[in-house]
Amino acid sequence: MSVTADRLKNVSISASAAMTQRARELAAKGIKVVSLSSGEPDFPTPAHAIEAAYSAALNGDTKYPPMDGTAALKAAISRKFKRDNNLDYDASQIIVSAGGKQVIFNAMLATCNPGDEVVIPTPSWVSYADIVKFAGGVPVAVPCFEQAGFKLRAEDLEAAITPRTKWLFLNFPNNPSGAACSRAEMKAIADVMLRHPDVLILTDDIYEHLVYDDFEFCTIAEVEPRLYDRVLTMNGVSKAYAMTGWRLGFCASGSKELMAAISNVNGQNSGGISTLTQAAAIAALDGPQDLLKQRAAIYKARRDFVIDRLSEVEGLRCHKPEGAFYVYPNISGLIGKTSKGGRKIATDVDFVMALVEEHHVATVQGAAYGMSPFFRISYATSMEMLEEGCARIAQFCRDMS
Ligand code: PLP
Repeated sequence: MSVTADRLKNVSISASAAMTQRARELAAKGIKVVSLSSGEPDFPTPAHAIEAAYSAALNGDTKYPPMDGTAALKAAISRKFKRDNNLDYDASQIIVSAGGKQVIFNAMLATCNPGDEVVIPTPSWVSYADIVKFAGGVPVAVPCFEQAGFKLRAEDLEAAITPRTKWLFLNFPNNPSGAACSRAEMKAIADVMLRHPDVLILTDDIYEHLVYDDFEFCTIAEVEPRLYDRVLTMNGVSKAYAMTGWRLGFCASGSKELMAAISNVNGQNSGGISTLTQAAAIAALDGPQDLLKQRAAIYKARRDFVIDRLSEVEGLRCHKPEGAFYVYPNISGLIGKTSKGGRKIATDVDFVMALVEEHHVATVQGAAYGMSPFFRISYATSMEMLEEGCARIAQFCRDMS
């Protein structure tokens, strides 16, 4: 009898984590690796958030917390939704979990029956499809084409919806393409969803604050208030406040039934989130917000640098995205070539493997995000690393024959 449960059969290990691991192995051998594979801000957590956690610990805030989040944190999240998104969610409509990832996991476990379809605009974050499969659902990829700026087109969404569709996922700004939707583009998506009243919508707004060139972020429940009861708005402190290690995400919805189901799962798979993390999150959400703009300006400069450098490289085509901290260059001009080290580049997996082994730059293959032939570069790292990384990528591509 196999030790492993059948439900794990179709669930894979995250490709970005695998590449980060390979980069670590090479670095352990003394090789200078340029790591452009990790989706994690290189900035520190704001000091006021750290101090709040420290004070909470000293003040004895160290007992079991309420499963779905402390009242103080829920109040701060409610203020955040009003301030940033013009959305009204009260404490009873909010649930706190261990990161955005656990929010999605809980939501799928709470709602998916075997065979339920989940429409995922693709390219998409590596974990979505696996979480859906874990929960017994069926991920349905809808391509967001490069020619459309990696945006979800209304007609493609409409074509993907069937009587079995339970959820639509939205993630704009997007991992891995960086694409974000304007209000008009989001309204077109919302209009399709108004025609399908049985489909729920999960919007993963984790990159909300990472938008550039005066681009204005919007989220679907605000753009189309008639969808309020069907939308699960998800967000967290990981990317905006550089708090990936604290593990805190949250969600809110107008649907009482949905929140009761998610709360049920949340209460069974953890005993609530660390009280210290919750104290830190309150400080981050309620504290000075100017750091978001300051950091966004730094990310923008890095994005522009990477796009400029890679656009000069023959064989690469590099769309300039509105947000997140990724670029997603197309490598179709290099498919069929051979790297200097002798590896035939038949796929984007070959490309990123040859790049890391021969020039020691870690990136992630587009195949991991469901759209090839591309690769993802994370520019959540120093300008020095980006200069070195882009120079090595350019050399790698130039050396191909
Ligand atoms: N959603 C997307 C689109 C992501 O890219 C990530 C992390 O890379 C997450 C969610 C996970 O966020 P958290 O750290 O809050 O679990």
